[in-house]
Amino acid sequence: MAKPKHDPAKRPRRLHLVLGDQLDHRSATLRDLDPAQDAVWMAETHAEATHVWCHKLRLVVFFSAMRHFRDELRGKGVTVHYHELTTRKADDRGADFTEVLRKDVRKLKPERLVAMQPGDFRVQAMLEQSAEELGVGLEVREDDHFFCSLDEFAEWAGGKKELVQEMFYRRMRKRDAVLLTKDGKPVGGEWNYDADNRKTFGKVGPPTMRKRPHHFRPDDLTQEVIDMVEVRFVDHPGSTEQFDLPVTRKEALKYLRDFIEHRLCDFGPYEDAMWTDAPFLYHSRLSQALNMHLLNPRECVQKAIAAYEAGDTPLNSVEGFVRQLIGWREFIRGVYYFKGEAYLNSNALDNDEGADVPSFFWDGDTEMACVSDVMRSVIKHAWAHHIPRLMVMGLFAMLLGVHPRKFHDWHMAMYVDAIDWVSAPNTIGMATWGDGGVVGTKPYAASGNYIDKMSNYCKSCRYHPKRASGDDACPFTTLYWDFLDRHRDTFKGNMRMAFQVKNIDRKRQTDEIDAIRAKAQDIKRQMLNEESRKAGSTG
Ligand code: SF4
Repeated sequence: MAKPKHDPAKRPRRLHLVLGDQLDHRSATLRDLDPAQDAVWMAETHAEATHVWCHKLRLVVFFSAMRHFRDELRGKGVTVHYHELTTRKADDRGADFTEVLRKDVRKLKPERLVAMQPGDFRVQAMLEQSAEELGVGLEVREDDHFFCSLDEFAEWAGGKKELVQEMFYRRMRKRDAVLLTKDGKPVGGEWNYDADNRKTFGKVGPPTMRKRPHHFRPDDLTQEVIDMVEVRFVDHPGSTEQFDLPVTRKEALKYLRDFIEHRLCDFGPYEDAMWTDAPFLYHSRLSQALNMHLLNPRECVQKAIAAYEAGDTPLNSVEGFVRQLIGWREFIRGVYYFKGEAYLNSNALDNDEGADVPSFFWDGDTEMACVSDVMRSVIKHAWAHHIPRLMVMGLFAMLLGVHPRKFHDWHMAMYVDAIDWVSAPNTIGMATWGDGGVVGTKPYAASGNYIDKMSNYCKSCRYHPKRASGDDACPFTTLYWDFLDRHRDTFKGNMRMAFQVKNIDRKRQTDEIDAIRAKAQDIKRQMLNEESRKAGSTG
């Protein structure tokens, strides 16, 4: 037999680049890899770890999952050129992604680089620029872990005045015959069961969980990463004490099973509810595994529908979960690529460029009971479910006037599942209305009353959710009126804001408006101009 022309260890034919959020053995990047001639390249780099002031747990999850994936590939006989960060910065062979890649490409001289489309415009630009400078061919393959291709989304979105998620969702359901009857109608008669899915826990709190969510203990490889992160990134926010996340596909599948069997049932009715010291409730917490490609959304949808068909799970829960995946997740990704890089600088409400998140977004040190509880979960788990993200942290950032890009940077730093494609439309669009209505036709503006209705937070808070002025005024409520007051003219033509515009017009007729304006100024002065801000977005 003729000796292969290429040696994957010394001079591979193709170098397949695998990024930290592309950990699937069956992905487009690896589908034609020939272990006899090709090699895989992966890198942990200091610059990527500090591009935003990354939560320690986020660093651990990415590096640990990457190292596990590397070892699995090696176990299958694939050569992997892998750059591991150590506790000693001097050991780095290059501080940033492009430096490390360039050094290796110059040394290994592959004929071609193969990659899958990164979920971040910045990384895509780095790849393209490196390949061009090195004079080596780069083949970028479409990410095949989504229901809707980017071309299909662009075809749907092109020429539309408004992109309505619900319409996109129905189209996807019809296209793939998901939860449809034989004659193409939605199962159960409705496309959407949101009306059944807004239950609160009343005064008594969440019903007993059928079973606590599965927890994964750190294995030796993960412990090694934790030790490294605790030394090298010691001043980063968050904690590694509560590591319990899946870092391999096997673990991710176990996590999915655990959710379908024990929590999906109650997920729907309580998906918008919040409760003190109960961060997970009935949520799947699968976004980290999904966004790293340890799981495929298709298998999640199939398993949820199978649970419904087996009679184990009610339709409103299954439809709510399916909509999160086929509707929101796909829609958000489509918007990111359809709108392009300029979307990241959207600032429709003209917020101050320097208006950064307050320091308690990093350490949770605040008297606001709702924010304090959500931040406990963010610091401990680098995670919160969609309502605390949107209607506590996102809402506060919007009402305060934080620049949408700064909120996006914070979200990228603090959540274990944040990748640019999913974070940007959720933060710049949905949470802060920075995109001026691309993702949501109206801002999710609300006062403390919403939080009071959906949680028990206000009962133990020093503030009063109904008060907008005075010593015990709820900062959400003060800033809500101030937000409507400041942006009244922007929203006056928006039919969906008509009720709120009418309310602020009424409030402007009262004496309280001056007190609200003064109080809001105080809050903003104090929170937006803190000298001791802890953010370190440049690392
Ligand atoms: Fe949050 Fe206001 Fe309720 Fe306090 S009173 S928990 S700050 S919404």
